[in-house]
Amino acid sequence: MKRLICALFAVMLLVPAALADGDLSIEEIVEVIDLDATVYGDTVWDFPVALEDMEPDFVVLANKHYLLDSKFVCKPLVKIKSMSLNKDGSKKSGDMYVVSKGMELNETCAQALIAMADGARADGYNLYLKSAYRSYQTQNTMYYNRLKKNKGKDDGWVSKPGASDHQTGLGCDVVPRSWRDKSMNGKMGKEPECIWMAEHCQEYGFILRYPSDKEDVTEINYEPWHLRYVGIPAATYIMENGLCLEEFNEQLQAAIGKFLEDGGDPQLVNAYIQEPAEQ
Ligand SMILES: [Zn+2]
Repeated sequence: MKRLICALFAVMLLVPAALADGDLSIEEIVEVIDLDATVYGDTVWDFPVALEDMEPDFVVLANKHYLLDSKFVCKPLVKIKSMSLNKDGSKKSGDMYVVSKGMELNETCAQALIAMADGARADGYNLYLKSAYRSYQTQNTMYYNRLKKNKGKDDGWVSKPGASDHQTGLGCDVVPRSWRDKSMNGKMGKEPECIWMAEHCQEYGFILRYPSDKEDVTEINYEPWHLRYVGIPAATYIMENGLCLEEFNEQLQAAIGKFLEDGGDPQLVNAYIQEPAEQ
């Protein structure tokens, strides 16, 4: 509320001065003040992303503290078809992946990924989708196989069932095409394709889910290949401010708490509320 009052005060001061001078339009004044709060009813939503710009399912957090229900997935899922190259080695418009059969992603996320791969290709980079949606059951199998291989020790490379970002249908592992058969590691982050993704992914609604400087927050090792779809407004805010999804969720939950405290309509925010699971 304080910020809104300050902004309104600034408008009162600036508008007459600017109009008298004739050098600033109303639009320019609003831009100068950078008023990023939205008002619903009489209550200020003091968060940089407006509610209508954020799908609740798209910003859902999955980690070992926020476990997904075994049936949760962001629907609808679509199959990403296997694509073959033209005879001259070029790819048809919209075709960029040669993937193993049955790979699935949320439809909006899949479309964004196709657009991103097209954008990368226009800049000379070939991306390859290595892994997409994984069900709770698949994750369960992977987790216990990893434990068995590691003599019962959880080394942080495979998430527990319910804790995997891949279960959302919005998380995907995208690698440089030259890495399609190599095992993934943090060195991949130095590849030009990964540098390109880190710079441009938010333009398509993706974030780097496990950044190198957030290992202590995500509790997951740096994964330059793991992208997560959240939608363009949230992705822009997250990437431009160097956040990870955990930090974004913490800010979002605080904004929801404040909104409700100020008398905001619970129906507007209920779908975004996430509580950590009992351990
Ligand atoms: Zn991944």
